[in-house]
Order: sequence, then C-alpha cells, then structure tokens
Amino acid sequence: MSIPRYAVIGHPVAHSLSPRIHAAFGRQLSIALDYSAIDTAAEEFDMTLGAFAASGGVGANVTLPHKQRAARACATLSERARRAGAVNTLTLRGGEWHGDNTDGAGLVRDLTGRHGLDLRARRTLLIGAGGAARGVAPALLDAGIGDLYIVNRTSERADALADALGQPGRVHPRYLADLKQFGEFDLVINATSATRTDGLPDLPMSLVGARTAAVDLSYGEVAIPFLAWARAAGAHDAIGGLGMLVEQAAESFALWHGVRPDTDPVYAHLVEHRASLVTA
Ligand code: NDP
Repeated sequence: MSIPRYAVIGHPVAHSLSPRIHAAFGRQLSIALDYSAIDTAAEEFDMTLGAFAASGGVGANVTLPHKQRAARACATLSERARRAGAVNTLTLRGGEWHGDNTDGAGLVRDLTGRHGLDLRARRTLLIGAGGAARGVAPALLDAGIGDLYIVNRTSERADALADALGQPGRVHPRYLADLKQFGEFDLVINATSATRTDGLPDLPMSLVGARTAAVDLSYGEVAIPFLAWARAAGAHDAIGGLGMLVEQAAESFALWHGVRPDTDPVYAHLVEHRASLVTA
C-alpha cells in the first residue's frame, strides 16, 4: 500500500519547518507519512493542488501567500475557516477539498499554554490583515480578548477583516499612520511579512507598556526586528511564532490522523537547534 501524501504549499516554501515537524509527529506516533514542500506561484495554486491530488495527495498545509485563495478552492469549509476567509489545512474528502484553519487555535494554545498568558480582556492590536491575521483574529476574540484594533498597510484589507469579524463595538479598523494616537495595548501582534522584504513598519514605542505581551507570528530571523523593538519598548513578553507553528501543525496532524501529538518535545528540539533554523 502506498503511503498517503501530505505537503505544505507556499511561495517561497523551500525552508519551511513544516516537513520536519510533521515527520517528527509521525515518528512519535509510529504513523508512516510522506510530507513534502511544494513551491507554487499564486496564479498556479489551483493547478498545483489538482496535480497534488492526482499524485496521491490527501492533505496539505497552505502558507503565504495562498491562504485566501485556498479558501476559494475548497468545496466545503469548517466554521473557523469560513469566519477567517482563509485556509491553512486542506483535507481531501470524496474527491473534494475541505478547508480548515488551525492558525488561531495554534496561537491561542501557544500563548495560554506554553507562555501562560491570560488573554481575557486584553486590549489588542493586530498589525496585518493577510492570511495569518485572518486566521488568528476569530480565535483571539473567542479566547476573550478585549477590544481588537486592526491596522494594515493596505487599509481596505483591515476594513474587510473587521467587517468579516462582525463585532463593530469590539473590532476597530484603523490607519497604520495613526498608530501614535492609540496608547498602550496589552497584546500587540505582528502578523505582517514586512521584515522579509522591506523591514519593520514604523511602530511607536508608546504602543507598549510594562504589561504588554508582544507577539510576532513569524519565527527565526524574520521575527528578530519586531521582538527587538518590543524589548526596547519595555514589553513584559516578546514571543516569536515558533510555538504557534508547532501547535497549528499539531492541530492539522490531529485532523488528518485522528490523534494529537505531544508538541513539547518537538518544540524543545526546534528551540535547541534554532541556531541552524532558516526562516520560511
Ligand atoms: P500574507 O501574504 O497573506 O499577508 C502579508 C501581510 O503582511 C499583509 O497584511 C501585508 O499587507 C503585510 N505586509 C507585507 N509587506 C509589508 C510591508 N512592507 N509593510 C507593512 N505591511 C506589509 O502572509 P501571511 O498572513 O500568511 O503571513 C504573515 C506572516 O505570518 C509571515 O511572516 C508568516 O511566516 C507568518 N505566519 C506564521 C505562522 C506560524 O504558525 N507561526 C502561521 C502563519 C503565518 P498588505 O495587505 O498591505 O499587502
């Protein structure tokens, strides 16, 4: 019997840690799987997904910049993927793709479990409105954060995300240029990919106070500028996205294989070897 195929699909994706993480989960639970990385440009996503299914693919993670496109490629969506308008986990069911989104659950589990944060009533700033921001925003609201402010380079996307979240008294789209007027936040989340190409946007230190937890969804070198900014501003916690990555992967693994791996040893191994981690 051939081993079922899984993959992470993105662009760029060559240095993604997802194949290592899923292989480690498979070894831990004695589940044989073939998990690879597939690099495809945005306009070729649908074709690539079709070819993947034709070659025995039964499940895929989706990473930047394809999460919203993946949602459109699905025949059915989970409730959390529908609310996010973005998909990071695809499962082939009866010849059609079902989309889910495990990013939000992964972030909340990392912050509340591994880092011991109480998210309830935290005044929160979300910077970014791409696929990752869409995935985490509904889960943060469900976890009980207070008011959620959303800013994005392209302000229309912040407006669209706020509309999709549908809680006008609690969710506030704002202009990136107006950040100086906002005062302190209890939770500041960088969900942009800005440092991959252009460097960190200009963020005033007044956003951060002694209680603030600052979180970058990116990990490795990409997260360093934001975490350095947060520490310089006096944040209580400065947390990178590696824990979320492992937790969202575990959620996807559980959807596909019906069993949740123990994430702690896999996270510990990645932290121990972080000097050799290349970001993706
Ligand atoms: P997308 O391509 O969907 O979105 C990118 C976001 O970054 C958009 O909001 C975009 O703004 C913004 N952005 C890009 N360049 C700049 C810039 N120069 N200045 C300001 N804003 C900018 O990517 P994703 O949302 O999927 O991923 C975002 C980050 O989150 C990535 O670094 C990714 O690795 C990380 N991530 C981590 C995960 C984890 O498990 N730890 C899971 C998912 C993502 P605009 O709309 O204006 O283009």
